Amino acid sequence: MRKTIHIIGSGFSALAASCYLAKDGYDVVVFEKNKNLGGRAQQLCKDGFTFDMGPTWYWMPDVFERFFADFGKSPSDFYKLERLMPAYQVYFDIADSIFISNDLEEICDVFEETEKGSAVHLRQFLKVAKENYELAVQNLVYQPGVSPLELVSKDTIVRLNQVFGTIRKQVRKNIKNPKLVKILEFPVLFLGAKPQNTPALYNFMNWADFGLGTWHPKGGMIQVVNGMVNLAESLGVTFKTNATVQKIKVDGSGKVEGLIVDGEFVASDVVLSGADYHHSETLLEFKYRQYSQKYWESRTFAPSALLFYVGFDKKLENVSHHTLFFDAEFDQHAVEIYDKPKWPESPLFYASFPSITDDSFAPNNKEAATFLIPLAPDLQETEEDRSRYFDLIIDRLEKMTKQSLRSNVLFAESFCVKDFKSAYNSFKGNAYGLANTLTQTAFLRPKIKSKKVKNLYFTGQLTVPGPGVPPALISGKIASKLITKALSK
Ligand SMILES: Cc1cc2nc3c(=O)[nH]c(=O)nc-3n(C[C@H](O)[C@H](O)[C@H](O)COP(=O)(O)OP(=O)(O)OC[C@H]3O[C@@H](n4cnc5c(N)ncnc54)[C@H](O)[C@@H]3O)c2cc1C
Repeated sequence: MRKTIHIIGSGFSALAASCYLAKDGYDVVVFEKNKNLGGRAQQLCKDGFTFDMGPTWYWMPDVFERFFADFGKSPSDFYKLERLMPAYQVYFDIADSIFISNDLEEICDVFEETEKGSAVHLRQFLKVAKENYELAVQNLVYQPGVSPLELVSKDTIVRLNQVFGTIRKQVRKNIKNPKLVKILEFPVLFLGAKPQNTPALYNFMNWADFGLGTWHPKGGMIQVVNGMVNLAESLGVTFKTNATVQKIKVDGSGKVEGLIVDGEFVASDVVLSGADYHHSETLLEFKYRQYSQKYWESRTFAPSALLFYVGFDKKLENVSHHTLFFDAEFDQHAVEIYDKPKWPESPLFYASFPSITDDSFAPNNKEAATFLIPLAPDLQETEEDRSRYFDLIIDRLEKMTKQSLRSNVLFAESFCVKDFKSAYNSFKGNAYGLANTLTQTAFLRPKIKSKKVKNLYFTGQLTVPGPGVPPALISGKIASKLITKALSK
């Protein structure tokens, strides 16, 4: 008889796992508490405007290609991709910004213009970053995180200095200009930690950035979700939305027996949770949980965020699809996120204006904007905080880009720590999981396979390999392979 696998949540990792498990011949049902699928990749539609509420940067296109190729498909069977030019723009001061091109030679030229001699160092840095990308993204990140031995090979041994060195040290060794340093340290923010706490090996993110480029799926990240859902349905996966899992039931022998979904028991052979790991464990009786509250409290979580989704009644000037406002000191903001959690005095922020390149995001001659300020997880927040920071963003945006905008705001919706908790059961309202620091990498992350309950597995951004959409796809693949291997014994 076909085994039944129940999956909790419908984020990218769960969607990926559902495809692999259905292909391997199991009956797969996904239970999602929200009304829409896709986890944090929700879309907000208002008055003709559209906003990606979660991920907006489509990086590492090879990971998406590899995922769809596992099913004889390609991303273009499901959505249309465009490589953005510029990839992004970074503001450092009033009318002072750097454009990152989609062409490596042009990026080198910009570096050279900004700091004489830096292009040579950049090329050397990227050569190493590319080799690390090939090693990490084509091999290491697909390891299940079961044993440290997974990381031991002749390729990794020669890179030990990069495991114990930090991105910060590596970047600043030869490049001194503060603007260029900020640009090179920016990609590790996707890993959820400070550059001074992130192993230098993660410079493969710089190759992802400059070498592989920034892409945009036409219609937004929801199109990737829709593509994966279509694929999953074609493989026989069943999706149940507005379906909250309240308990994971374990039988007397310590084996998973099923779920309580909205008060009803459903029998399962295997349960895979793609919901936040911490929340997933709270669905178990205490004695079956692997990690204590103290353990979770001691982890470095990726930041939470304050987001605004804003409709403007005109087109904006001097901004790009992705625009970073680094006209503040990241180190100070980082202290306020990681070391002494509080509302930041002078935060960096990110802005996305997708309607610049994709007219499906806003009505004619109008602009859709998403703004994001990274925040300490679990920060207490009020409506006053939200409006204070909205004012701060508009002031800085007007000043840096030299235009008047306040009276052009048609509406501004916000999303913050409390919403992350209530929408996704996110631990402390983290936006994108558990950071990839040295002590939270690979086999040091929470495990995919439960050590206490037979046939119970976890996937997603709190386990291996870590935060981000591409890692989520990989996490789903790793989890499904472990399940199939265990069931075929
Ligand atoms: C604002 C923001 C911006 C980001 N930007 C980027 C970016 O630009 N590029 C990038 O690559 N990544 C980005 N990320 C990170 C990326 O979105 C995540 O790492 C990834 O989507 C996480 O996927 P996941 O599979 O871990 O599941 P999640 O997306 O966390 O999904 C988990 C799902 O489980 C559901 N669930 C929870 N509890 C239950 C329950 N009891 N019963 C049923 N269902 C339940 C939740 O509702 C949710 O749908 C961003 C994230 C955020 C929040």
